[in-house]
Amino acid sequence: MKPVYVDNNATSAVAPEVFEAMRPFLTEEYGNPSSMHTFGGKIHRNIESARAAVADLLGANDPSEIIFTSCGTESDNTAIFSTIRSNPEKKHIITTKVEHPAILNVCSFLESVGFKITYLDVDNTGMLDLNELQSAIDHNTALITVMHANNETGVVFPIEEIAEIARTRGVVFHTDAVQSVGKIPFALNKLPVDLLSLSGHKLHAPKGVAALFVRKGTKFSPYMIGGHQEHGRRGGTENVASIVGLGVACQLAKKNINDENTRVRKLRDKLEEAILKKIPNVRVNGTTESRLPNTSNVGFEFIEGESILLKLDEKGICASSGSACTSGSLMPSHVLRSMGVPFTYIQGSIRFSLSCYNTEEEINYIIENLPPIIERLRLISPYGKEGKK
Ligand code: PLP
Repeated sequence: MKPVYVDNNATSAVAPEVFEAMRPFLTEEYGNPSSMHTFGGKIHRNIESARAAVADLLGANDPSEIIFTSCGTESDNTAIFSTIRSNPEKKHIITTKVEHPAILNVCSFLESVGFKITYLDVDNTGMLDLNELQSAIDHNTALITVMHANNETGVVFPIEEIAEIARTRGVVFHTDAVQSVGKIPFALNKLPVDLLSLSGHKLHAPKGVAALFVRKGTKFSPYMIGGHQEHGRRGGTENVASIVGLGVACQLAKKNINDENTRVRKLRDKLEEAILKKIPNVRVNGTTESRLPNTSNVGFEFIEGESILLKLDEKGICASSGSACTSGSLMPSHVLRSMGVPFTYIQGSIRFSLSCYNTEEEINYIIENLPPIIERLRLISPYGKEGKK
């Protein structure tokens, strides 16, 4: 049986169109785009077409604002290290408590070498207080790095307002948009973001390719120091096939963005409403007002998320508890803890993240199978059948 895959915030299926576009560059077109001969050199224009497709999806002014990297983590690291190297006199970074480890762990490293980091709080809906951001900025602030959409809850932060604050106060603004690119329309020609990270495998391109948008005029210092590739901004022979795949994935995402925001959103809402109706002691984690159309993070009180996942897995349903990077660890989600989600719900929180490949039948299958799983687990839970004991 084909699995019912609702773990697309962890990674997504490579689109068949993407795979077909990549195939020649894994077989006969294997030249190095930096070579002098025609065989290799001609490949360069395929990279440039992919760059134009990424820029187009983001609504960027100029394809040269896109740098290809190996993953979202590299894009995030590049944004931070580039900014601090370009502004060596400033030693303060503002971020949030709910970022991905690709940001949080860099910040904690920088803290250990003398940087001051402000971690903004979120409220119980997962939202930021922009007054707290305003008051955190000072003359020493080099960078504000705030994610666009949270990978665990799907909560979308108001990056338009944050970008405006950063611009007014003269601070560089980076956003980790790894979860939102392809799911929400972008117009970077109007939005004053300086740096933006995205990652191919979250939008039906392969793993191991990503990009960093760097607005023209933003001071930049390479993170991967090496050859002249990417106009000297990222050394390393280009991952041509995957870059071409990312370009096609961006074209598809642009075409499918309405579907994501209507059909996929409806499927997500159907799943969520059915869960809330059929199962007692359940909560949706994160605001329902400003959220990715594909994500639902649901807490089931008094049971272990891991047990739910195992039972779902037996039925061929792939979901996850929190982020793929922290699942497997027994630490309760830092995102849900920061939101003050009650402990009895944190342990039993599950993320369902859909994609354009999910069907109504699959959602019906989950709706049919989930309630009896929860009921059985509650019967054997130490808290007993009635939940609170
Ligand atoms: N940022 C966010 C918000 C993510 O969800 C992820 C991956 O889950 C990353 C960064 C890291 O991306 P990658 O897996 O491409 O390194």
